[in-house]
Amino acid sequence: MDKISAKWLQEAKDYLEFQVRQGLTEVIIPPFVEPSGPLGPLDVVRNDLGECARCPLHRTRKKIVFGEGAPAARLMFVGEGPGADEDLQGKPFVGRAGQLLTRMIEAMGLTREDVYITNIVKCRPPGNRDPEALEIETCFPFLERQIKAISPEVIVALGRISAGTLLGAKAPLSRLRGRFHDRGGIPIMPTYHPSFLLRQERERRWKGEAWADLKLVMGLLGLSGANSGDTP
Ligand code: SF4
Repeated sequence: MDKISAKWLQEAKDYLEFQVRQGLTEVIIPPFVEPSGPLGPLDVVRNDLGECARCPLHRTRKKIVFGEGAPAARLMFVGEGPGADEDLQGKPFVGRAGQLLTRMIEAMGLTREDVYITNIVKCRPPGNRDPEALEIETCFPFLERQIKAISPEVIVALGRISAGTLLGAKAPLSRLRGRFHDRGGIPIMPTYHPSFLLRQERERRWKGEAWADLKLVMGLLGLSGANSGDTP
């Protein structure tokens, strides 16, 4: 056996042993689908993800929520994980929080089709709990590949989990937001998750701070926005 095959086999063995330790009892190999046209870099990542069973979240999800939007978007939004509506539809940010995110994007003078929207984990954590460290660690390489494929000019990290994961930071979101952080040459703007803003609807301060963060992003991208300056 040559060195490359031996290395590949060792990696496959390590991966399967890792899955068994996580409680995996069966391996599902998705059927091979002949591509209808040339695959873009994001399609390759989606194909590699397949009908993923790499972490325990696959047991309770209905649909994988990979992400959607422009494959070469200048601006990328990264949330935490799919909720109930997203799990049913297989699309990111389609529930109430998604509607608020859509209004925020439109206030920036953009549409959802102009940006790319995804999450840290691609499967819904049961009961909308926080994703666990192992689930994040297992899913994160696919987000890294999405970021590499899209190569955005800026990423907005929505919420504590997204900001903490992308920046490897433990500081509270209130200390991270309001300024850009560098991640491998890509500026990251942490801000509040739309679900949090909905829960704090009576308190205008949070929405105002989120809008201030997005205005900094607009400045970086040279966008004048569709909003006169009020919070969306
Ligand atoms: S959360 Fe990510 S790693 Fe876990 S099963 Fe879903 S796609 Fe796979």
